[in-house]
Amino acid sequence: MRLRAATSSLGRRWKSHAAALAFIPEAAGFQGVRDRAGLQEFSVARKERFWGAVARRRLDWISPFRGVLDYDAERGKVSWFEGGRLNVSVNCLDRHARSSPEKVALIWERDEPGSEVKVTYRQLLEMTCRTANLLRRRGVKKGHCVTIYMPPCPLAVASMLACARVGAAHNVVFAGFSAEALAERIRDARSSTVITVNESVRGGKVTRLKATVDQAVRDCPTVRQVFVATRTDTPVAMTPKDVAMDEEMMTEDAACEPEALDSEDVLFLLYTSGSTGKPKGLVHTQAGYLLYAALTHKYVFDYRDGDVFGCVADIGWITGHSYAVYGPLANGGTSVLFESTPVYPDPGRYWETVERLKINQFYGAPTAIRLLLKYGDEWVRKYDRSSLRTLGSVGEPINTEAWEWYHSVVGEGRCPVVDTWWQTETGGICIAPRPSEPNAEIVPGMAMRPFFGIQPALMDEQGKVVTSNDASGALCLGQPWPGMARSIHGDHQRFVDTYFKTYPGYFFTGDGAHRSEEGYYQITGRLDDVINVSGHRVGTAEIEDAVNQCSAVAESAVVGCSHHIKGQGVYAFVVLKQNAQEADLASQINAAVSGKIAKYACPDHIQFVQRLPKTRSGKIMRRVLRKVVERDPGGLGDLSTLDDPAVVQEIVRGHRDLCGGLEEQK
Ligand code: AMP
Repeated sequence: MRLRAATSSLGRRWKSHAAALAFIPEAAGFQGVRDRAGLQEFSVARKERFWGAVARRRLDWISPFRGVLDYDAERGKVSWFEGGRLNVSVNCLDRHARSSPEKVALIWERDEPGSEVKVTYRQLLEMTCRTANLLRRRGVKKGHCVTIYMPPCPLAVASMLACARVGAAHNVVFAGFSAEALAERIRDARSSTVITVNESVRGGKVTRLKATVDQAVRDCPTVRQVFVATRTDTPVAMTPKDVAMDEEMMTEDAACEPEALDSEDVLFLLYTSGSTGKPKGLVHTQAGYLLYAALTHKYVFDYRDGDVFGCVADIGWITGHSYAVYGPLANGGTSVLFESTPVYPDPGRYWETVERLKINQFYGAPTAIRLLLKYGDEWVRKYDRSSLRTLGSVGEPINTEAWEWYHSVVGEGRCPVVDTWWQTETGGICIAPRPSEPNAEIVPGMAMRPFFGIQPALMDEQGKVVTSNDASGALCLGQPWPGMARSIHGDHQRFVDTYFKTYPGYFFTGDGAHRSEEGYYQITGRLDDVINVSGHRVGTAEIEDAVNQCSAVAESAVVGCSHHIKGQGVYAFVVLKQNAQEADLASQINAAVSGKIAKYACPDHIQFVQRLPKTRSGKIMRRVLRKVVERDPGGLGDLSTLDDPAVVQEIVRGHRDLCGGLEEQK
């Protein structure tokens, strides 16, 4: 089904100058822009004019920027708003606390339904200032990086903003990561300070986060101090490095002088998986990131003053950073911090929350939508969802069935569903059905239209730009945008090699896409060895490293497989050492993966094989393994470069024995 436009033309003229200004006040200075299509063209063709005007209007500057953009794709050098100085926490808090101190900034939707806590801009500013003073008193300053290992809660947001206030970078690590994964990220970021809570509560389950931090910091010589806040009443043993955060904060002043930072000072690192075993700490900087998060938040979701924005992503992912914290707060909005799960205490949780908090924009993941649709419509219809205006989807492709259900059942057919494509590297949404004409068509399961200033390009196998429509290719972005990552922490060359080398002059996203006849974009999935499990990125090499740690394992190869709820699951091919027994090995392998990475990365299937398909030079041919799990033996292609082609038949047979009867891999 398509939502047909009353008029699908994007070129419809604004009725008046006032209508244009009401949509985007900066249009006053954009000569010749008469309609939304013109605005889009202007934002791409005259990007410096566009972003300069937007930055001047929407951010509060301590001193104005001199130049808008300095870009050199070859060296991976990106710099926006050079010479400008500002403070991100002032932009997210002080200016709103001044104009509307009692406005609610955050609604902390705690695990137990009905126990939400509202935090006003005045309160959040105070909490941030106290935290910032504590950080300063304890020696944290510009150039440092603080690791935050916390569930979504106001103090986690205050900690992020406190870092921004004193000029330190933050490094939020998803609180589902294991001690080893946390330690690896703390070491790479060279953090001397970690902030955590005693325990987290999610889906009725208590997890001892502080115990995980204790274990992690044992392997992190750089860590000097760990701030421990309390989420539950359970006391935890404190070590000499630990600081009782809640108590210490109370002794601090509720005002804190913000640091004046350069536009390109680091705001945060966020680790994500790449195609090697080592996660990349992507670097985001101050002004460009904040501006891009704010503008996309406003225009993609049609966020209006007074709305309640409900992004249910964890703050440990980029979606939580940009659309639970920075975008909504920069816009002076009200943002929900969701601590629970979609099925706690029952599968009506999201929609009960929508009714109780009167959420206007709901932003979630396809994996949760797929899960909930299986429980039936009753869980949705029970609750009043009339407050909803926009529904968003993020993290992985949304299949048509899930999209239709989201649109027709959750949104009662009246809310646009925006399938938003972006990634940790892009900082904010790059392709989404909105903004566009209010009634412009939305095609199910398609991200469709580039955001302001975004110029997508598809590349063919020869590295040439595909110019036709109804064509597929590697998705690149043809010009810089303010939200893009600036580097990989400690390894700028890897940044250049990963994103700028494959297609010179272009930023390569690692995704493939199709451009429809009408020019709309649909993302087809990763082109590299990264898989997307329930919208969480993980590198196959990272999982292989963990599997190979088991003493009985000789080697392994991991590929993604389709999964009816998670989108992609993990399929591991494992070769055992001679004389190793298979019994109990699956649980050993799972323990190794959850111990080294996180539970979500554990294999859904483990197939023990005698040998892996390898080229004569010894490289594992994952392409072949992918075809096996896709049940596409016809697509195996040329096997002549394999060392021993007979190995493939063995593997196909083993796969049939393991998954044979199943319609789909579960
Ligand atoms: P992350 O950096 O963890 O947010 O993961 C980004 C990756 O998730 C992208 O490179 C895509 O592969 C995938 N992704 C995110 N949003 C979408 C979407 N709307 N449609 C398809 N894939 C998506």
